[in-house]
Amino acid sequence: MKNVLVVGGGGGGVILANSLDPDKYNITVIDRDMYHYYQPWFLYIAFNGSRRKIWRRIDDLLKSGIKFVNDTVNEIDLDNRTVKTGRGNYNYDYIAVATGTYPDPNGITGLKEINDEYGNYHSNLENARKLWNKISEFKGGNAVLLQASPTCKCPPSPSEGIFLLEEYLNKIGIKNKSKLIFATPYPRPYPAEPMNRIVEPMMRERGIEIITFFNLDSIDIKNKTLISLEGDSIKYDLPIIIPPCRGTDIKFNNEKVLDNDRFIKADKYTMRIEGYDDAFAIGDVSNLPTSKSGVTAHLEAKVVADIIDGKDSKFDGRINCPFDLGYGKGTFVIADYNHPVIPYPPTEFKHFMKLSMADIYWWTLKGYLDFVFDIYFEYTKPEKLLKTYRPVEA
Ligand SMILES: Cc1cc2nc3c(=O)[nH]c(=O)nc-3n(C[C@H](O)[C@H](O)[C@H](O)COP(=O)(O)OP(=O)(O)OC[C@H]3O[C@@H](n4cnc5c(N)ncnc54)[C@H](O)[C@@H]3O)c2cc1C
Repeated sequence: MKNVLVVGGGGGGVILANSLDPDKYNITVIDRDMYHYYQPWFLYIAFNGSRRKIWRRIDDLLKSGIKFVNDTVNEIDLDNRTVKTGRGNYNYDYIAVATGTYPDPNGITGLKEINDEYGNYHSNLENARKLWNKISEFKGGNAVLLQASPTCKCPPSPSEGIFLLEEYLNKIGIKNKSKLIFATPYPRPYPAEPMNRIVEPMMRERGIEIITFFNLDSIDIKNKTLISLEGDSIKYDLPIIIPPCRGTDIKFNNEKVLDNDRFIKADKYTMRIEGYDDAFAIGDVSNLPTSKSGVTAHLEAKVVADIIDGKDSKFDGRINCPFDLGYGKGTFVIADYNHPVIPYPPTEFKHFMKLSMADIYWWTLKGYLDFVFDIYFEYTKPEKLLKTYRPVEA
């Protein structure tokens, strides 16, 4: 039997492992954490104080017959098909790296201190809870939500953060004592122009100040000021900063497979790591020209399982990010390699779908809902959607 090694037991890794037949392959999943976290819920922990249990043991998520190893992968030798972990060595016939991203505050003076004090909603549960504590203590002043670098998990999540913060401050009656500021390195609040047609007017209606082209360079903690590469500055009382994210900290024998931010260079249709037929990168860790999202990791994992199984399968770049716009409204960011993001009108039902995902997510990982997702993804293909609804006009 061939050995399939899956590095990372997040969304991409677990779905890939569960999509392969343990009677046909020796499947091993290695993760440095014992637990898998439902990261989209960090939003509701950080901005609503939710106490939902969003973690499960990784070994409980895997089908029987799949081996789980709780260990850190330190090195991958793609030429000799070997992996070194903290406690051992492994050989493989196929490897899939699905290690997500890591937040990297280095290079921005003051960012580590801000993250340590205020937390953030883009790294882990502890930081999301820390941020909620700060938000719940906030009594007014400048609340600044800043995306520190262009790459981040889940492109809607920066806007979702400011929408949920505005809704919360409004609800508890201190919005009139606060100035809400949304700062981004992009030329507009939502990077993709069609979706920005929905997002920017909503921010303006809700009194959120928008600062574009703001590339964070340093933070003057003493004077509570964010300073950009361009020399602009923003005063803060409550800083909510999404740290830059990077690919993997694993050492590769051939470091040419990594780009400058340590994302793995992979083929955008097959997820094969550049130059290797037996190695794949799925989910956030790859440099694919698509969103870093759980849905994308899911669809990529399915394609890689097919390819390992000898089928001719290709990823079409489909994204499907649920987007909480606040006040019970939601939309989805839908696109693929051949269709730019379409401005899909907000509804309450789409918001309900976003929240429901937290319940059905665990079944999704086990593949119980594959048939529902197949129907959903077929029905909501960008070319089909464009025929069945009226897009939000420019
Ligand atoms: C606030 C927020 C909101 C989001 N909202 C959505 C949403 O609405 N919809 C959506 O689809 N996506 C959303 N996402 C994005 C989604 O959570 C990620 O894209 C998804 O989890 C990526 O899956 P992955 O398998 O690539 O990586 P991850 O799920 O991050 O898993 C990586 C795993 O690899 C392990 N690992 C890392 N390095 C090593 C190592 N060296 N050795 C061993 N193990 C290692 C980690 O412990 C981890 O378990 C959101 C993310 C955030 C932060």
